[in-house]
Amino acid sequence: MTPAATLDSGAGIGPIALMSKTDKPVTTPAGLAAAGLIPPDELGRLEAVAARYAVSITPAMAELIDPADPADPIARQFVPDARELVTAPGESADPIGDTRHSPVPGLVHRYPDRVLLKVVGMCPVYCRFCFRREMVGPEQGAPLSEAEQSAALAYVRERPEVWEVILTGGDPFVLSPRRIAEITSALSAIPHVQVLRWHTRVPVVDPQRVSDELVAALRSTAQAVWVAVHANHPRELTPAARGACARLVDAGIPLVSQSVLLRGVNDDPDTLGALMRAFVACRIKPYYLHHGDLAPGTSHLRTTIAEGQQIVRRLRGRLSGLCQPTYVLDIPGGAGKVPIGHCHVHPSEAPGDYCLEASDGGRHSYRESVGDQEQLAKSRPLDPGSP
Ligand code: SF4
Repeated sequence: MTPAATLDSGAGIGPIALMSKTDKPVTTPAGLAAAGLIPPDELGRLEAVAARYAVSITPAMAELIDPADPADPIARQFVPDARELVTAPGESADPIGDTRHSPVPGLVHRYPDRVLLKVVGMCPVYCRFCFRREMVGPEQGAPLSEAEQSAALAYVRERPEVWEVILTGGDPFVLSPRRIAEITSALSAIPHVQVLRWHTRVPVVDPQRVSDELVAALRSTAQAVWVAVHANHPRELTPAARGACARLVDAGIPLVSQSVLLRGVNDDPDTLGALMRAFVACRIKPYYLHHGDLAPGTSHLRTTIAEGQQIVRRLRGRLSGLCQPTYVLDIPGGAGKVPIGHCHVHPSEAPGDYCLEASDGGRHSYRESVGDQEQLAKSRPLDPGSP
């Protein structure tokens, strides 16, 4: 399979040319109107949104949108909305604090054993809820220059505690297979890096880009390679997307999922459950369900945490354990990711006594029984404030 036109370097990069059986990506409000994805009278208002935040919808995603449905869950993710110009209290340009943890350009070192390497800031689609929306786009998203990439690799090389490198962006799968192979090879030469994890939306939004060449470029003889696939609605897992995921898995690359809980897209147990089952059917292990970050102009797409907990709790009772993601929130400012799902274990006063909540809401007492009774008498549930 021939890949689409690709990105090789930071200099002289044109628009990402996407190969599709239909047309080109739609990147302007005028293009959206021409494609029937917005009413013409919205054009003026949406020009102002597009002037601030990048717009792109691939043919694969445009084909999934039902223009007659004003609440279409695919459109909601990619078609700009005038509400994006309203910044709600608490929203910020860098909601998860990347900048605070960035010692060299393109690299984020937030946790001891892993770093993010943001190799490119462009994407085949621009999601309206993106937490890096102020940093991605055709204008500001050029790939790291050679010098920047060398400095980032030197940073990793000098830190033996870095066990995993997460390649992200933007979407790193917009890079050419040649550039991806170079990155794989450079990281393979760092012995303490044991895992390469690529974060991408490409297998779903532009599945033809997952070519044999791209798959070969990802493979490393020195490290385990994982791919985290981002999708938010079961309709996104089209036959073509399933084929792209199969090409990766069949090449020995394990897949995990990432999704964002989005109002009007997947904020009900039926839709979210169908998405998780579709992932597992594609051999993608559900990994993270992200609570919406406080990115500017995204409040209309966020749920409350309480709503998220209710939805996730209902999945627990209905779906196979394989289909359960961890519901997480990135603490604003950069303190990291924490699980925020409903807690099913409630300690009682007496050491070793607990109340366990079943998935149907029923409460059951549980008394621990261990060989060392002295140890049990001393045991205390973890103090939420302890490190
Ligand atoms: S693909 Fe990822 S990085 Fe790109 S706009 Fe969507 S959420 Fe943001």
